[in-house]
Amino acid sequence: MRIGIPREPAEGQKLVSATPDTVGKLIKLGYEVIVEAGAGVDASYPDQLYRDAGAEVVGPQEVWQADIVTTLDTPPQDKIDQLREGTVLISRLGVRIHPEIAEVFAERNVTAISMDAVPRITRAQAMDVLSSMANIAGYRAVIEAANAFGRLFTGQVTAAGKMPPAKVYVIGAGVAGLAAIGTANSMGAIVQATDVRAAAAEQVESMGAEFVEIPAPAQESSDGYAKEMSEDQAKAALKLYTEQAAASDIVITTAQIPGRPAPLLLTAEAVAGMKPGSVIVDMAGGNCELTKAGEVVVTDNGVTIIGFTDLANRLPGQASQLYGQNIVNLMKLMTPEKDGNIVFNLDDEVVRSITIAREKDVLWPPPAISVS
Ligand code: NAD
Repeated sequence: MRIGIPREPAEGQKLVSATPDTVGKLIKLGYEVIVEAGAGVDASYPDQLYRDAGAEVVGPQEVWQADIVTTLDTPPQDKIDQLREGTVLISRLGVRIHPEIAEVFAERNVTAISMDAVPRITRAQAMDVLSSMANIAGYRAVIEAANAFGRLFTGQVTAAGKMPPAKVYVIGAGVAGLAAIGTANSMGAIVQATDVRAAAAEQVESMGAEFVEIPAPAQESSDGYAKEMSEDQAKAALKLYTEQAAASDIVITTAQIPGRPAPLLLTAEAVAGMKPGSVIVDMAGGNCELTKAGEVVVTDNGVTIIGFTDLANRLPGQASQLYGQNIVNLMKLMTPEKDGNIVFNLDDEVVRSITIAREKDVLWPPPAISVS
């Protein structure tokens, strides 16, 4: 079968769904790979590298005619219309937020695989694109914070005097939060972190940060994500976040509960209590009352609030490599004979969870699975 790698249709999307390295791995699984001319240019992968890896570089029409097409995000309707009946589309389809998308593909008789619906179970980690992107984004959040912060992260003792290290506080110690903790720590900052899940404490400490507990932490739910807090817990948390923000130089917020709006952690009042020059990076968007999506806001008291929604896009080389490798890992699972033929074993809970439309049937939502 032929796998098509289009140039991403969305304006400003720098990532590509396969790199020369991952193309080579797909070919080893028995597939032919066609890549649209210029598909990897924004991620610093020129066409010749794809040719060297064994792919054919094709025009913008042909690539959508492949048997399997992989993209970063749901393609626009004019591209969906170009897919042949029976094509397999592998992409981040946002099916949790837009479940109606499954219908669109079922009607077109396109088999749709939603990479962002990979369950958070150990066996599926190698295919989890949300984790891959959150990891890169967590790193980049610290780089953005350091860029906006007018001081050093690390402490220094120099002939001209002593400089204290920056204090970084991370709220939400999931994938992005832990990546941010590791990065800030490696840059010499003093790092503290909080999560509603008590189980996060050990991970936070293993990354070299201090865990700051919320009174009465919430329980983890059976899908590996946090549950929403009770009203009392939320109040206690808000108070803690306000105090911590006032004492920190950088606050990175990553708190989310799937399927819910991002919880408000930093009110306008909390921001008003922060020191001039402090920086907030609101990764979840909505964790801070004053965040503007995609923008940088500087408050009257001199706090910079970064609301970038494209942090992984700001490191397109490695983000593309990780995304492409997630797809390779999926294709390994779905190509048991390594013969270039994709097999849909819907008894496999990972395959079942992400296949949202197949042979005109809508398969979303999948049956619930338990965490391993
Ligand atoms: P995750 O589920 O692994 O981590 C979220 C963490 O927040 C969990 O550990 C959870 O327990 C914790 N949490 C939830 N509510 C909380 C609260 N009130 N107080 C403290 N902790 C709380 O998610 P992730 O993969 O790390 O992603 C984090 C966020 O970053 C998501 O909103 C994701 O969409 C976003 N993200 C943004 C960008 C960007 O460019 N801005 C890129 C990638 C991911």
